Amino acid sequence: MHLELRPCNIARSMTAENNHYGSRLLHLRLPRVCVAIAGSEANEMLEKAEALARDNPFIELRLDYLPKPGLALGKIREFTESHPHVAVIGTCRRMASGGRFRGPISSQLDLLGKVAEAGCQLVDVEIQTAARLRPAQLDKLRSKAAVVLSFHDFRGTQKLDETLKKMTAYPADFYKIVSTATSLFDNVSMMKFLERHQDAHSLVGLCMGEQGIISRVLAARAGSAFTFGALSADEKTAPGQVTARELRMTYRIDQVDAATKVYGVAGDPIEHSLSPAIMNAALQRENVNGVFLALHAKSLKDLLACVKEIPIHGLAITMPHKQAILPHLDNTDPFTAKIGACNTIVRSADGKLYGFNTDTSGVVRPLEQRIGLQDAKILVLGAGGAARAAVFGLKDRGAQVFILNRHTEKGKKLARQAKARTMKRLDLKKLDFDVIINATSVGMGNTRESPLNAEEIKAKYVFDMVYDPAETLLLKLAKERGCEVIAGSEMFVHQAARQFEIWTGKPAPREDMLKIVTQALGERAAARNGTKLISKAS
Ligand code: NAP
Repeated sequence: MHLELRPCNIARSMTAENNHYGSRLLHLRLPRVCVAIAGSEANEMLEKAEALARDNPFIELRLDYLPKPGLALGKIREFTESHPHVAVIGTCRRMASGGRFRGPISSQLDLLGKVAEAGCQLVDVEIQTAARLRPAQLDKLRSKAAVVLSFHDFRGTQKLDETLKKMTAYPADFYKIVSTATSLFDNVSMMKFLERHQDAHSLVGLCMGEQGIISRVLAARAGSAFTFGALSADEKTAPGQVTARELRMTYRIDQVDAATKVYGVAGDPIEHSLSPAIMNAALQRENVNGVFLALHAKSLKDLLACVKEIPIHGLAITMPHKQAILPHLDNTDPFTAKIGACNTIVRSADGKLYGFNTDTSGVVRPLEQRIGLQDAKILVLGAGGAARAAVFGLKDRGAQVFILNRHTEKGKKLARQAKARTMKRLDLKKLDFDVIINATSVGMGNTRESPLNAEEIKAKYVFDMVYDPAETLLLKLAKERGCEVIAGSEMFVHQAARQFEIWTGKPAPREDMLKIVTQALGERAAARNGTKLISKAS
């Protein structure tokens, strides 16, 4: 007879004796992403499950979020019977283990037994609970459903081997260890742990926290049977959880395999970076087996250890590491050395790190699409890292470059190094430029501040490197003065496109990247203004 290998059938056919074989099969059949669902009442939780069921064949029902979990059993039975293709974990985590269930262990055990009878093929049992059960009680539960024995560390990632050793004293079908990443390297520790033990046990492992993104996306290839995703950004059941949709659509977790190359953007802070959205879309569009992650790098030492161990093939470097990274590189192109800042790293097969600066392309390319740069008269406001990339890039193309910086000495130093000129703010009203470029951070995140007053803006083009908001006050004033404007998003996309080309050797899908950035900035602006944007993205 044909045996249909659906997760529910396998789990239901399991007994305490054959469970190891059964759990291995279950491991093979489970989707990679389990969507955690919570709700303040049973109807709400099951309605969410119902809405998800078609596209998400693996869910976790967090009964501990319900005030009276026992009242949900009838609805859970209805759901599992009408959705036999959906694998369901029933979880009723006690407060002592980081959940919300206030009842005693006896009530928790009773509930878990009942959710198994109601059709949940898996139940989550914390090690703290297992330690207080008689072996026969755990066996009885396992005869009804696969047991995911879980341990959560909300403070760090430590003693993983010891923890597993303690856990395997209790029979279970999956051993789930969820720790907290307090550094990027904690992800490496988690993945090495999974690799060491995956042949002996069915494991689930990941790190919580913003720095845990690496393990959330890559743990499956290190040996984790599955991972968890949130239903939506507002409905996370663990710190740092990514939505299931992002895991599938942005990070393409179902396609991540041993050959998948890892890329990332490293900075501090990094939460609001648009790079993962555009780079993952570009990788997908160009059929590159790669994934791009946002790495919250609080220190370079931590970052470099990860680059080596994971390994990370290409890295975008952003504030505050662009200058500090230079001594750690094996080589840079001459331009990057002159600029004194690196925003792009390539890791070669032998582990060597090569640095580039693509901010220059980000400035030069959009301008070259509009004007000839030879002898063009260009004012650069600022003398920081981005200004340096602009000044050297423009001088290289034969432009006449003028620098105006708040701290004049810094501006003079850059002018000397790049053979450019400085100018005084008072003289601005007397001069016309082909292009004015804002390379200061003035205007970032608000529409109140501009580095220049309206009467100081006398140019054909005004280019603002600041990209959020999409229309800065400087660009608004420039438009009113009749200038053509170039938004920072264009620079962002051009410098990212160059990074993509350096890493993959393929042309970047610039139009698509620009669309994604424009859409994301529109959504951010709408969120700031408290309005909802009607999405035009397909
Ligand atoms: P940075 O190295 O920290 O330099 C900041 C510059 O802004 C310095 O010249 C600084 O002047 C000036 N500045 C800061 N506050 C000021 C104020 N209140 N009034 C006048 N000048 C002020 O930063 P960066 O990496 O060069 O970045 C500069 C801007 O470019 C940022 O907004 C960044 O987001 C943007 N950027 C955009 C892209 C893109 O792809 N669109 C790429 C890179 C950078 P002092 O020297 O006098 O302190």
